[in-house]
Amino acid sequence: MENGTVKHWRFQGNKKLTGASGFTVRGVLNLLRGNLNENDPRPTIPLGHGDPSAFPCFRTATVVEDAIVDSVRSANYNHYAPTVGILPARRAVAEYLNRDLPYKLSPDDVYLTLGCIQAIEVILTTLARPGANILLPRPGFPYYESLAAHIHLEVRHFDLLPEQGWEADLDSVEALADENTAAMLVINPGNPCGSVYTRQHLQKIAETATKLGIMVIADEVYGHLAFGSTPYVPMGVFGSIVPVVTLGSISKRWVVPGWRLGWLVTSDPNGILQKTGVGHSLSLSLLLNMWFDDYIVDSIKCFLDISTDPVTFIQGALPQILEKTKEDFYSKIIDILREAADICYDKMKEIPCITCPNKPEGGMFVMVKLNISLMEGINDDMDFAIQLAKEESVIVLPGIAVGMKNWLRVTFAIDPSTLKEGLERIKAFYQRHAKKQISS
Ligand SMILES: *Cc1c(COP(=O)(O)O)cnc(C)c1O
Repeated sequence: MENGTVKHWRFQGNKKLTGASGFTVRGVLNLLRGNLNENDPRPTIPLGHGDPSAFPCFRTATVVEDAIVDSVRSANYNHYAPTVGILPARRAVAEYLNRDLPYKLSPDDVYLTLGCIQAIEVILTTLARPGANILLPRPGFPYYESLAAHIHLEVRHFDLLPEQGWEADLDSVEALADENTAAMLVINPGNPCGSVYTRQHLQKIAETATKLGIMVIADEVYGHLAFGSTPYVPMGVFGSIVPVVTLGSISKRWVVPGWRLGWLVTSDPNGILQKTGVGHSLSLSLLLNMWFDDYIVDSIKCFLDISTDPVTFIQGALPQILEKTKEDFYSKIIDILREAADICYDKMKEIPCITCPNKPEGGMFVMVKLNISLMEGINDDMDFAIQLAKEESVIVLPGIAVGMKNWLRVTFAIDPSTLKEGLERIKAFYQRHAKKQISS
């Protein structure tokens, strides 16, 4: 090093992180946004990610906004919260979930997290002992894969079956599981498929998991957002068949994803996850006893002790949010989603290169199959999405980002007139790129 011109800094970025996040939904959507045409005077239509909070018709309820104001003004929530969350908020979550369960959760079964995302981080990290694996659905929610890669938790995929309403292929679950399998994931109502599982299918999942000796992680972030003929049943209903770890948040049902308040709940009336001979301090015996039923709840608490907590005043608002939100707000949101899902399903029938195997019954997304061979100059789903962004200012998520090549994930959780416009643009895009008929 001479005259300060060449200097060898000793730090560098962690390449494992870029590897783990290489194919996230956010990464792909950013790439697509980079392809938008700045000269298109029309507004961009976002059918790629699910965040309806920007549309006035999806604005959250006034009582929910008031809950935050009251919480801040009370000056009772300016303190650090306990790492598991404040008691009134944990109790409110337990009572909220108890409305649909055949047994009673206690506040001690509830852990508050920074959105459902952190609840996922907590449970996967808890299960990621060396050699362990988990079973994830394909198509799925790719955050699970990215995080698992980051924490060296092996992932095995079972398929969701489009011809069976996107039910889990439980034969492949059995074939994939071995003595190192800790859990299988169920996302219900489904992202990305818009499916809502029947009580019978959920029971079969519970029976399969218990036979394999694994727990069920139930991602119910879209809990109660069901608008078709199948009613929403929480997986926790089967908690006495198999231990269930339920994940949820206020992000979707209350349309406030930016508030970052979620929960992890052990829906486990037999106490299988709590059976433990060791105290919950990090003792040597705890570190040595890394097997399933000796470890889960302790590990959850330990992990929460070393991670960030949700903001205290949002926790303080939670009882009012969960107890005071009126039925008419919930049904208004359901009605808009149902109308939007209908528009989406009907309009797609007019686009020959797209088939939708199942009309969405819940959540905010639908998976549709692309028939690339009907178009000229488009190679695959990624290419379709890039050119669509460029030419029509419409963003859709290529299926490859959720594990299914030459499919698309489309959100219908936007205001219905914008949705119609977006689907019209996709239709125009198809017509411009359709293979010319060979005239006879
Ligand atoms: C949106 C979403 C999450 C994350 O929820 P947040 O509360 O915003 O962290 C988790 N799982 C699925 C399936 C989702 O769609």
